[in-house]
Amino acid sequence: AAEAEVHVRSGPVETADGVGIEVAANVGTLADLGPAVDRGGDGIGLFRSEFLFLDRESPPDEDEQFEAYVEALESFEHGRVVVRTLDIGGDKPVPYLDLPEEENPFLGERGIRRSLGPDASLFETQIRALLRAAGSTDGTRLSVMLPLVTTLDELHEARERFESVASDLAEEGLAHEMPEFGIMIETPAAAFMADRFAPHVDFFSIGTNDLAQYVMAAERGNERVSELGDYHQPAVLHAIDATVSATEGHDCWVGMCGEMAGDPDLTELLVGLGLDELSMSAVTVPHVKEAVTETDTAEAEALAAKVLAADTKDEVTNLLTTDQ
Ligand code: PEP
Ligand code: MG
Repeated sequence: AAEAEVHVRSGPVETADGVGIEVAANVGTLADLGPAVDRGGDGIGLFRSEFLFLDRESPPDEDEQFEAYVEALESFEHGRVVVRTLDIGGDKPVPYLDLPEEENPFLGERGIRRSLGPDASLFETQIRALLRAAGSTDGTRLSVMLPLVTTLDELHEARERFESVASDLAEEGLAHEMPEFGIMIETPAAAFMADRFAPHVDFFSIGTNDLAQYVMAAERGNERVSELGDYHQPAVLHAIDATVSATEGHDCWVGMCGEMAGDPDLTELLVGLGLDELSMSAVTVPHVKEAVTETDTAEAEALAAKVLAADTKDEVTNLLTTDQ
């Protein structure tokens, strides 16, 4: 019903008291680029690069990836495009990669763990394509983020690979640029260590789908535990709050790209918690933009304080419905 009334805003939005919040779109296939623009996304907050590797018999080569990243950048003349490096394993199988059989794939070799390990050469190809794509635009509009980071070592190791590829490209005389560099916060380890990660990255993007799963020990997509693995759970909200607070005093912006970011009933709370950017499926962009314009940051902060004081998910839900 709200669909007919909602107005698509194509420019940046601010809260009622003038705080800018970036509202971006998630892209899970090249076909999502059109709607991301048409629904008024300010950019792409999560480009799930693994889609380039799925439903085929061999991985995309460097040029094919380069072209896909450039196409994403060209869709947004000004906006930022955040590409997540390959995030496979867990719930994201790829037949030609011969992924191991694991009893608990969500706790196994997935995300950055594969890129730094068995998929190192795929990772190197992806980094070459990303650095060349970053060098193909003026300014640093391309950002790169790493999935499922749990340790500082993983971050440092990944950055070294980027630096080593950059020096290869320089030797080869190929245009390239170092993109803005960030990590996803989607594990309790990353949330607990956020103050140590913050000085070393340009941004965090909170992946609430995995963060809720790991904080609550409740498998995503498993209906038997969906009440537990819900982003209204106080423990999940505290993990988010800790992450945002850890960036204070650091030159590190914080976004969110899990399902939670696209829920307009939570926009006021997320602004109150201090998020700078929200990224979601294109369809909800206009709803969240509208919710941002209706938010007053002082009220939002008061709401966040009340919500963080709640003991149960039901209390959280009640606060969010009575305050709307
Ligand atoms: C997340 O975990 O919240 C996230 C955005 O990544 P994905 O859903 O692709 O795992
Ligand atoms: Mg995830």
